[in-house]
Amino acid sequence: MAFEYAPAPESRAIVDIRSSYGLFINGDFTEATDGKPFKSVSPASEEVLAEISEAGPADVDRAVKAARRAYDKTWSKLPGRDRAKYLYRIARIIQERSRELAVLESLDNGKPIRESRDVDLPLVAAHFFYYAGWADKLGYAGFGADPKPIGVAGQVIPWNFPLLMLAWKIAPALACGNTVVLKPAETTPLTALAFAEICQQADLPPGVVNIITGAGDTGRALVEHEGVDKVAFTGSTEVGRAIAKAVAGSNKRVTLELGGKAANVIFEDAPVDQAVEGIINGIFFNQGHVCCAGSRLLVQESVYDEVLARLKRRMSTLRIGDPLDKNTDIGAINSAMQLAKIRELSQIGEDEGAERWSPACELPEHGYWFPPTIFTGVSQAHRIAREEIFGPVLSVLTFRTPAEAVEKANNTPFGLSAGVWTEKGSRILWMASQLRAGVVWANTFNRFDPSSPFGGYKESGYGREGGRHGLEGYLAH
Ligand code: NDP
Repeated sequence: MAFEYAPAPESRAIVDIRSSYGLFINGDFTEATDGKPFKSVSPASEEVLAEISEAGPADVDRAVKAARRAYDKTWSKLPGRDRAKYLYRIARIIQERSRELAVLESLDNGKPIRESRDVDLPLVAAHFFYYAGWADKLGYAGFGADPKPIGVAGQVIPWNFPLLMLAWKIAPALACGNTVVLKPAETTPLTALAFAEICQQADLPPGVVNIITGAGDTGRALVEHEGVDKVAFTGSTEVGRAIAKAVAGSNKRVTLELGGKAANVIFEDAPVDQAVEGIINGIFFNQGHVCCAGSRLLVQESVYDEVLARLKRRMSTLRIGDPLDKNTDIGAINSAMQLAKIRELSQIGEDEGAERWSPACELPEHGYWFPPTIFTGVSQAHRIAREEIFGPVLSVLTFRTPAEAVEKANNTPFGLSAGVWTEKGSRILWMASQLRAGVVWANTFNRFDPSSPFGGYKESGYGREGGRHGLEGYLAH
């Protein structure tokens, strides 16, 4: 090697993590009345970052009532242009504090700083800016001349994009005139609690945003609370199904963003080097903890050997380790539980006869780590081709004709996203019309923009987030 590797760690001095956090209810941090505190841990080092309060049923009730009061007294009565001012203010504070929030996100979640700094945070701010723009134009969104908010939204989000999922939930809800109670995931509450401080900094009226921390029981109590008019959930299909059952028969409106098993389809005329970058970005971005990850690679047989050789070579250059090192490509797996699930499914892949390959790489001693991995010789019946692994693990399959590619791509209970790599525009359009997926990327992957709708078919859930479509779930119309 020509040069010694020199780490380039981002300083964590910019973040000020308190030793313990209360619940953010009615504009203030308050102590939980009936839950047991738990710890938020850095998955890269297993260091305890802070003690977090658990909201029990009485706390959930307080939060929902605070949101209701704020809805009745202030927020639903404010003209859209005034709601917009608050959203713009929040967006600007996020931009001002973006370095601090990126470091905090990487510490709590384990994702590389390169991603939290260059992807998550810019998108978080963009989401608030975008929906601020809609707040006084709702009458032109196509949902009637004078659409009304729904009321109190109960929102439950996962751990893979903590602050970004918060933005996807809170920005459109507030723009439409709803108030919210949001529960972040148990393992990644810190940026949501920092967001609570941002609400204070922005002088948001008390009760418009309430952040309650806790695990699944807190989430359940929130979505089942009778004072909640709208439930918005992102997470596993299993919990999404339980939520759909729990609210069935009530008047609650529901949107669910659930799992995926996206096909990334490489045709023989694709620009191979770009496609390989797209494959890498599709499955190793955010350690593969991405609901729309390109976790099933479909390669046309005629270019299989070439694509695979270049993919392996590129994988050998990925750098795994300290999420705060600016050179890191792959950070830590978010929790011991998720690591166990990735290990289990990978073992099942081997047991079922697929061939496993990872580049040689050294994993840090402490924390939760999994090397970038591909499985070849995978058949459609294998569990690793059907189930969401939610880790840096790619299943590789092949096809001969476009029709076969479509058939295999659609052979999944999910339908969140897909990727197509080809030089032919007509083939892209034809594939997009055939693929049963909410988002189809052409010659790119994992691209997000606040103005474009995102959501799934089949077991990937229902409702759309982002864009004009994302307003619909928060309007009574
Ligand atoms: P969950 O679906 O359990 O978690 C998502 C959120 O829902 C969390 O805030 C969780 O709280 C909360 N929650 C859990 N149970 C309930 C309930 N009964 N009612 C209301 N809210 C609830 O995902 P996991 O973290 O358990 O991950 C399990 C698997 O799900 C992963 O391995 C992955 O395959 C998939 N997943 C998919 C995601 C996606 O975006 N498609 C996102 C996350 C996970 P808490 O964190 O405290 O448990």
